[in-house]
Amino acid sequence: MSTSIVIVGAGQTGAWIARSVREAGFDGNITLLGDEPHLPYERPPLSKAGMIGGESAFAPVFERDEYEKLNISFEPGKRVVAIQRHERQVVCADGSQYLYDRLAIATGGRARRPAFPGSDMPGVMTLRTLEDATAISERLTEGGHALVIGGGWIGLEMAAAARQRGMSVTVLEAADRLCARSLPAFMSDYLLSAHVKEGVDVRTKTSLERIDAADDGRLIATLTNGDQLEPADLVVIGVGLIPNVELALEAGLHVNDGIVVDETGATSDPAIFAAGDVASIPFSWRENRLRLESWANAQNHGIAVGRAIAGESVKYDDLPWFWSDQYDMNIQMVGLFVPGLQEIVRGDPATRRFTLFQVDGSRIVAAASVNAARDLKRTRQIIKDGKTVNVPALADSTVPLERACIADS
Ligand SMILES: Cc1cc2nc3c(=O)[nH]c(=O)nc-3n(C[C@H](O)[C@H](O)[C@H](O)COP(=O)(O)OP(=O)(O)OC[C@H]3O[C@@H](n4cnc5c(N)ncnc54)[C@H](O)[C@@H]3O)c2cc1C
Repeated sequence: MSTSIVIVGAGQTGAWIARSVREAGFDGNITLLGDEPHLPYERPPLSKAGMIGGESAFAPVFERDEYEKLNISFEPGKRVVAIQRHERQVVCADGSQYLYDRLAIATGGRARRPAFPGSDMPGVMTLRTLEDATAISERLTEGGHALVIGGGWIGLEMAAAARQRGMSVTVLEAADRLCARSLPAFMSDYLLSAHVKEGVDVRTKTSLERIDAADDGRLIATLTNGDQLEPADLVVIGVGLIPNVELALEAGLHVNDGIVVDETGATSDPAIFAAGDVASIPFSWRENRLRLESWANAQNHGIAVGRAIAGESVKYDDLPWFWSDQYDMNIQMVGLFVPGLQEIVRGDPATRRFTLFQVDGSRIVAAASVNAARDLKRTRQIIKDGKTVNVPALADSTVPLERACIADS
C-alpha cells in the first residue's frame, strides 16, 4: 500500500478521488492540490440556477469539514508546473514540492477561446470557473443584448439564462444544427424550436468574423457574410474545452486528446493515474476510447480511480449520462447516439415532455429526454442490463418502459 498520494487538480474529480481513496481504507497521506482559490466545486450551477439568479453559483463538492474528517490535506492556490517521475514528485509554481507514491491527475480542462479580431476585448468572455460566472452574471442586464458564440450545451444554457434575465439573445452556431456533436438531428431541431419560441435569435451555419467596440463600449459583431449584429453588452464564447494535458505530456505520459488510461485509471506510468474530463477512457461498449465531459463521469470515474489507487480491483465501464437545464426543460441524455440508427419518439414533443430512443435492432443504444427523467432513468438501467426491447412498445407512453422489455433477454 502506498504511503503518500498526491492529487493534482481540485475540481469535482479530484475531490472524489481524495474521498474514495480514504474511504477505501488507505491510511497514508492524501494531498489535494488545486490552482483555484476555492474548495472543489461543481460547475453545472454556473450556467444554470447560479446564472439565472436566486441561487448561489457556488456548490462545493464537499464542505470544508469533510476534508478535515477524512484527513485530506487540501491545498488551494497551488499550481503544479511539473511532474518529475524519476524523483516521484510534483513541483508547484511557488517552488513547493510534494513527493508521491501514487499520483492522480485530475486537471480537467479550460474553455477554448478561438482567436479572432476582438476576441480579447473586455466583455468577450468564456465560462468555466466561478470567477467567469460572476463576471458574466454582472454583465447580464435587463433590456440588454447578449451574443453567444456556439450552440452547444454551455452556449444554450447561457442563452436561456440571459433570456430569463430579460435580455435579447443571439446565438451563432457554425454547424448546421445545435449540439451536433452529441445529439441527433431530431433533438437539435427540437432545441432550436424551443429557443426560437423563447425569443432567441438562433443562427446556424453562421460564423463570426470580428468584434469591435462601439463608442458606448458595447460590442459589435461582424459575421463572415459581412452582416453586423446589434451591439451586445457581452459576448459569451462556448465552443468547447481544451483538456489540461500539458503536465502529462511534458512528463512523457501517453496522451491522445486526453491522458490515456486503462479501465483502472492507470496511465502509461503505473504510479500515475488520471480521471475526469482530462482522461481518455476505454469502454467495453465502444471500440474507441472516449474523453467524457460530464458531472456524472467526474464523480463516478473519480470514485473508481480513487478505489483503484487504494488497491481495490476496479474496472470502470460506466454509461455516459448528461443533463442540461434550459427554461422549463430538464434535458437528459444516456448512451451515445450513433448516426443512422432507428429513432423512436415516446410522448409528445409539443408538450415539452418526451423521450427519443435510438435503437440498434431490439437494443436501445442511446436516449435523450425532455422533462421525462423517470423514463430516462429506467432506460439507463435497461441499457446497463443489456435488455432487449419490443421496439413498437417504446413509442407507446401508456406502456411502462419495463413492460417494453422482452422477458429473459
Ligand atoms: C458551466 C458548466 C456547466 C456544466 N454543466 C453540466 C451539466 O449540466 N451536466 C453535466 O453532466 N456536466 C456539466 N458540466 C461539466 C462538468 O462540470 C465537468 O465535466 C466537471 O467539472 C469535470 O470535473 P473535473 O474535476 O474532471 O475537471 P475540472 O472541473 O476542470 O477541474 C479541474 C481542476 O484542476 C485545476 N487544475 C488544472 N491544472 C492544474 C494544475 N496544473 N495545478 C493545479 N490545479 C490545476 C483546475 O483549475 C480545476 O480546478 C458543466 C461544466 C461547465 C463549465
